[in-house]
Amino acid sequence: MKIIILKKSIIISTIIFFIVSSFFIVFFKFFQSREVYKDRDFWEKTGNIVWEVNTENKLVALTFDDGPSPTYTEKILDLLAMYDAHATFFVIGSQAEKYPEIIKREVKEGHELGNHTYKHQEVNQTSEEDLIKDLKQAHQVIRQITGQEMKVFRPTSGYYDGTIVAAAKSLDYTVIIWTWNQDSRDWTQQDGISIAHRLTRIINPGSIILFHDQGGNRSNTIKALHVLLPVLAEKGYRFVTVSTLLKLRQDARNVIK
Ligand SMILES: [Zn+2]
Repeated sequence: MKIIILKKSIIISTIIFFIVSSFFIVFFKFFQSREVYKDRDFWEKTGNIVWEVNTENKLVALTFDDGPSPTYTEKILDLLAMYDAHATFFVIGSQAEKYPEIIKREVKEGHELGNHTYKHQEVNQTSEEDLIKDLKQAHQVIRQITGQEMKVFRPTSGYYDGTIVAAAKSLDYTVIIWTWNQDSRDWTQQDGISIAHRLTRIINPGSIILFHDQGGNRSNTIKALHVLLPVLAEKGYRFVTVSTLLKLRQDARNVIK
């Protein structure tokens, strides 16, 4: 009888032990985890991440990721110049090192440069310390080529979380994503005409549009721009840099104050 009671109590205490320890493991993992999930609303209110800018002015920010590219970037620059369009190029530091002349041309023609990391690694897999190092490296490359300090950062694949924001903030960067429904989807290799038609239907004042000028065949991006630029210009849109849009946002905040 005694043995049975003893066995029972051993079983019960073993179960309790497992329940309590798994609770602690889950609890510990939760606080160890990289991110307690916060949604767009939360981040938008902090002003640390921007998807688009709320404005009635017919302004739109075209953005180009992953460049510069010796094949496509200059063709895009030629087209932008035809429409007096200013864009933001989120450049990869190691690419910029290879093609400094294209970087210089971008700046000379009034475009903005943004940080898109030095190596284009997955930023959601990178520690805060390593991300800061990487962003600094890209920042220095651009400073050496242009003498300018970049102010905007686009994380690879549009990832965002507390670690990414903390790294960006420590270097005075604002994190820029893009208006979600206005991804040009140029990376899906859709034809240029469909990309342009899709965009002309959904672009609003203050939109931030994602394109790529490197990292694949970007001839469709160029075809899309051929259609999109005149259509939007006809509708009264002006093409400005992300920082110009952000300034509008700050002005609006000042008015509210
Ligand atoms: Zn990218």
